[in-house]
Amino acid sequence: MAMFGGRGNGRLSRIPLARDEPIERWQRRLAEAGLRLVEIKQTDSGIYQTLAGDDAEQAKDFLRHETVEKEQYYIVVETPDGNWGADINGLFLENLRPWQTDTATAECRGQLRGLIGGGEGIAAAAHGWVDNYLVQVGCGRCGHEWIDGIRFRDATLVRCPACHARNLVDSGAVTYTEFG
Ligand SMILES: [Zn+2]
Repeated sequence: MAMFGGRGNGRLSRIPLARDEPIERWQRRLAEAGLRLVEIKQTDSGIYQTLAGDDAEQAKDFLRHETVEKEQYYIVVETPDGNWGADINGLFLENLRPWQTDTATAECRGQLRGLIGGGEGIAAAAHGWVDNYLVQVGCGRCGHEWIDGIRFRDATLVRCPACHARNLVDSGAVTYTEFG
């Protein structure tokens, strides 16, 4: 396993990035987004670029604008509200946060406004390979819209980033059919 250290080592120019760009520009973009490099490591299953940030919404916004041009390249941002990532298929939430299955504590009902991404996420959730897929949610209390991870064909708790209301979203009526 190759390791590429986070700070102050002399091998910076050899860091494999998600796309071809000058390392200085990449570092500047990280700083502007309030993110820190934890590590970049190469494993048998791919390259993992791990970042850390204090704000999940800011991390999602950063990741949505990242272009990952390489297969098996994963950017993951560790935040206090989950590990959010991006790969060649776009944004993902690594795992549901533990409180998201605590549906009895819901304060209102959120609305499913649409699927995020090209369908790879819901396919993986339908197969049970991951525990969530991403949707656009509308807050049942304040109307704010944001992206969050939910369970496939089940009820999930999501927290509005604007008013912090615990919204219950139910994907029980969502159907998924694979073609081809
Ligand atoms: Zn709200």
